[in-house]
Formats: sequence, structure tokens, C-alpha cells
Amino acid sequence: MVVGPKTRGFICTTAHPAGCAANVARQIEYVREQPRFEGVKKALIIGCSTGYGLSTRIAAAFGAGASTLGVAFERPASRTRTATAGWYNTAAFESFAGRDGLYAKTVMGDAFSDAVKEQIIDLIRSDLGKVDLVVYSLAAPRRAVGDVTYNSVLKPVGQPFTSKSLDVAKMEVDTVTIEPATQEEIDGTVKVMGGEDWRWWIDALREADVLAKDATTIAYSYIGPELTYPVYHDGTVGLAKRDLAEAAKAIDAELRAGGGHAYVSVNKALVTQASAAIPVVPLYISILFKIMKEQGTHEGCMEQMYRLLARKLYVPAPELDAEGFLRMDDWELAPAIQEKVNAAWQAISNENLKTYADLEGYRREFYQLFGFEVDEVDYTADVEIGVDIPSIG
Ligand code: NAD
Repeated sequence: MVVGPKTRGFICTTAHPAGCAANVARQIEYVREQPRFEGVKKALIIGCSTGYGLSTRIAAAFGAGASTLGVAFERPASRTRTATAGWYNTAAFESFAGRDGLYAKTVMGDAFSDAVKEQIIDLIRSDLGKVDLVVYSLAAPRRAVGDVTYNSVLKPVGQPFTSKSLDVAKMEVDTVTIEPATQEEIDGTVKVMGGEDWRWWIDALREADVLAKDATTIAYSYIGPELTYPVYHDGTVGLAKRDLAEAAKAIDAELRAGGGHAYVSVNKALVTQASAAIPVVPLYISILFKIMKEQGTHEGCMEQMYRLLARKLYVPAPELDAEGFLRMDDWELAPAIQEKVNAAWQAISNENLKTYADLEGYRREFYQLFGFEVDEVDYTADVEIGVDIPSIG
């Protein structure tokens, strides 16, 4: 089949297997060019197929030689429809890992469920013994607990928020007003994106005795600049991230006796499937990227996650901020960068969009998430869309 992008709002409903494989290969290549690091041997990555989770898996495997087990929620191809990008990424990752003699298996299913937790525990028992790193990198729209399904929403809390935004479909600046969340929406978002399920994972792994005594676990968060506070940091997802931070404290207290730790890493804003859906954030990202590229400090998911593991986490004394967070957004929030972002944010309009924002870069990176617009891929060629993940078949 010849595969092209089909977009609906801020999602792309097709993915290109060769493009996704090329993206994964490029990330692996980057890690191979960096100095190796030590400290992680057997890692479980929850949310391993795209974005930050995929890059963490690549950094652990190809930067430190770690065996990796992953969990993700991705769909294989049907006869007429491509698989999701995360499916193709995982197939490529496992193939490359296999070629290098690295253990890699993946469970495709709902990470929130008991069944998937049990499946992972069985795999750790039979294949790895214990894991020493657990990465929690889920970005999910909903979570079922028993018969109840909770939904995650991206909304301000308390009052409406009106702001400039980027219409990703039209690539135009517009103004959006987002109504505040109801209490039910706030509670739902905390259930989905907060720390409860992370705690359940760690409890389950500890009870099954498949977590190394001195294990490290890490979850990802975002804070961002003040201009997105109403919709993010002080909004529903920000409240969920505060809950995640509380969970980190509780897990850390449990692991400390054995020499283990739980961390929250505050990462940079990046183009991922999750962040494209956040109102206001794509406009901020396209301004930010232009400035960080000009200053030479721009990073993608892979650069961020290699730097996290090799330079911030697996070092003798990880450097934490006053709240106990690892800060991978250090270069994003540097005052010199944010002053320029603020000036551009005030000035930007449809007339001068290209002067202030790297829209072309944003658009391209968005399509690349799905394996499109990757230089070395011939998009006129027929490709086999039914791709097996080696550990799943
Ligand atoms: P993403 O959408 O690229 O990846 C999400 C992952 O979660 C995928 O592997 C997906 O398959 C998996 N997933 C979703 N629902 C699942 C389920 N029910 N069961 C199993 N797997 C499931 O997201 P991302 O942007 O990499 O975000 C990962 C984390 O990083 C989130 O906590 C996010 O808040 C945080 N973060 C993101 C940014 C950003 O700008 N993208 C910045 C800082 C922090």
C-alpha cells in the first residue's frame, strides 16, 4: 500500500512503517554517538511506544545495554488500515535491539489494568528476575477502574482562560477561550494523569518481589512558562501532576530503606501526540523552538532522555530542585530564553507568524511523529503495512 498522512484535527490517523522505523533508527544512532553510561540493567518502561517513553527505552537499551520490557496501548494494522505509529516504533525498536543482542519484549494492553500488571510481573519473573528501573510515561485520555471510566481533560480551574493559540489544522493564530473544568472533570483528570496508578504499579511489583531492592522509578511532568499556567500548571493536568509529585514522595519513602528512589523529572515541552492536543501549547512550542534553535540549545525527546539518564540520573548525586524534582526543562526555562519567548508572544499575529514562530518546524515534527516527512523515506513506494512486533508476532 502507498501510505500518506490523513489528519483529523490534531491527530493523524495513518502512520508510515518505514518512516517510523527511520525515526527510531535515527534516535538509536544519536545514542550510539554519545558516551555510554552505566547504572540501568533491567528496565520496565510503562508508555514505551512514542514520545518520552520510547526515547527513555532507547537511551537505556542503546546507551547502557539494558534489557527492556515495555507496556503500550497501540493498534496493529488491519487489511486496509495502517497500525498506529507506536506499533511501528515498537516493532522497529525490538528489531534493532534484537540485532544488537539486547533483550526487549513489549506488552500491548491497558497499563491501568490488573491483567497487564500481572502479565508484566510474569514476564519479569520468567525472563529478568527483577527490574532496577521503572519509568512511568503514560499520557492517556482515560482510565477504567472496575466499572468506572475516568476521563482526562485539559482545562483551566476556577475561571475561563482566553489566550492566543495555534490552529494546528490551519496553521493560523487564533484566540481560544477555554471554560473551566467541573469538579468531576478535575477529579477524573487526577485519576487518569495523577500518581495513583504509578503507586499501584510499584506496590504490585514489590509484592511480587520483582523490583530490585535499590530500584529507581521515575515519572514525567511538565511545568512550563507562566503564559501557559492557566491551562496547564494551574489547570486540571497541573493538579494531576501535583498528585504525581505526592506519589513520588510516598514511593520514595518506601524505597529508600533499600537504597532505592522515586523521582519526578520535569521535561521540556516537545511535539508529541499528547502535547499537540493541548490548547495554547503548540503556539508556545513553535515560538520556543525557533528561539532555542537560534540559541543552539534545542533538544528533542531523544536528546532530553539521554541527558536525563546519562547526566542527571545515573550520576553519583542526582541534582534536585527545591521541590525534589529533576529539571530537564532547565534550558527551556532559562531567563534569557523566556524573555525572548514573552516578547514574541506579545508581538505574534497572523501577519508576522513566520518571523516569530517555527511553524514549518512544528508541522514537520508533527508529521514525523507518524513517520511522514522523513528525508530518507520514499513515500511513493508500496509498503507492507502489516508489521509484526518480534515479541508479539
Ligand atoms: P505520548 O503520547 O507520546 O506517549 C504516551 C505513551 O503512553 C504511549 O506509549 C502510549 O501507547 C501509552 N499509553 C497511553 N495510554 C495507555 C494505556 N491505557 N495503557 C498503556 N499504555 C498507554 O506522550 P508523551 O508526550 O511522551 O508523554 C509522556 C509523559 O511525559 C506524560 O506524563 C507527559 O505529561 C510528560 N511530559 C510531556 C511533555 C511534552 O511536551 N510532550 C513535556 C513534559 C512532560
